[in-house]
Amino acid sequence: MPELPEVETIVRDLAGPLTGATIDRFDLRRRDVLRAGADRLPSLHGARITSVAREGKRIVIATDAGRGANDTTRIVVHLGMSGRLSMAPAAARLEPHTHLIVSLRGRVAELRFRDPRRFGGIWLFGTGEGTGQLPYVGALGPDALTISTRTLRGIFQSGRQIKAVLLDQQRIAGLGNIYADEALFRAGIHPVTPASQLTPASVAALARAIRAVLEAALRFGGTTLIDYRRPDGQAGSYAAHHRVYGREGKPCRRCGTRIVRMLAAGRSSHVCPSCQSKRKWPRMTRAVRDGSR
Ligand SMILES: [Zn+2]
Repeated sequence: MPELPEVETIVRDLAGPLTGATIDRFDLRRRDVLRAGADRLPSLHGARITSVAREGKRIVIATDAGRGANDTTRIVVHLGMSGRLSMAPAAARLEPHTHLIVSLRGRVAELRFRDPRRFGGIWLFGTGEGTGQLPYVGALGPDALTISTRTLRGIFQSGRQIKAVLLDQQRIAGLGNIYADEALFRAGIHPVTPASQLTPASVAALARAIRAVLEAALRFGGTTLIDYRRPDGQAGSYAAHHRVYGREGKPCRRCGTRIVRMLAAGRSSHVCPSCQSKRKWPRMTRAVRDGSR
């Protein structure tokens, strides 16, 4: 599933061709791909796209269509497992499982959404409209790309495994299995460590590691495992730089120990048993926490 760097790469690639363009047709070829907001569909014809942005792992295309100045329609796309957004010449052959075509007035290229496995989808929302409890569209925590040590410290009060907390989009938005594993490795933290038992130094190291790994992945256009492609069809090339994810049985790039794959937070997790020691961290006391601010 695409994570923050992949979605951010797509958003940056789409912002140029889409921002300022006028929607000629919003051609929904498979109705059940639209998960919410069908009543807003007619207003999209002739609407101007005002911005393309990312919220967590969602892509948000804002338009000037809607029910008034304070209620404009936002097209929210979640890529799920196999969803793909591409810019393609209108004359180009349609790939199978193309569920949405957005043609743009006076433009050669159109926006296409395809999703063979259909875990992704499209939601139409008004500005500030409650996104409720729909899959993938619930409340989001602070964005992982800009998360601070202080914010993380607040999130890590829980006794849950650190890996589970990092994957919880309501706590911290944008991380998935790949970048959670990579960040934990860089910070030297074992994924089953209870979040509340991390020392202030470890929390600070993890905040730095999260930002560093996401920024590095962005420089390479993200990670392509199977399905993810940039809007122009290019794959992301960050997988070659992974330190643990997908490297089971291979030597750790730091110490040479074999990387193991284990279950943490119900997910397959990649760990260097020597760089990410499993020893219990001393429980943070209030005095230590306050003293470190
Ligand atoms: Zn190691």
